[in-house]
Amino acid sequence: MQGRADRMLADLKSAGLKLTPQRIAIVREIADDVTHPTAQALFERLRSAFPTMSFATVYNTLDALASCGLTSTLKLGGAVRFDPNAEPHHHAVCDGCGTVVDIEPSPGGAITDLSGFRVLREERIYRGLCDRCIS
Ligand SMILES: [Zn+2]
Ligand SMILES: [Zn+2]
Repeated sequence: MQGRADRMLADLKSAGLKLTPQRIAIVREIADDVTHPTAQALFERLRSAFPTMSFATVYNTLDALASCGLTSTLKLGGAVRFDPNAEPHHHAVCDGCGTVVDIEPSPGGAITDLSGFRVLREERIYRGLCDRCIS
């Protein structure tokens, strides 16, 4: 079975991006990361394996993934977070520890008609406390 990382790499390649070892590592790092990391967080994680890698390489690769529709981005408190889940979904954000989790949209729950505005997708952010922060 083909994993998400392999599909992303194949799509990036057909979008004309050269798959360097650094880019491959970045894609593998984000593909299964459900924590919605920032580019900075991914950069810091990969730096030990790729000491010569620049932040721009990380950012530009993530940006290319987002422009190809392979990831989505989430702006939270001024920081852009990257999300390997490109399907429309909502997020729950913990005010205690900053954890962000995906919430599947309930079928039929979306607003589809706003006068003077065409709704393409709906992204809600729920704020509260996660299990760990409650206890
Ligand atoms: Zn929490
Ligand atoms: Zn998400």
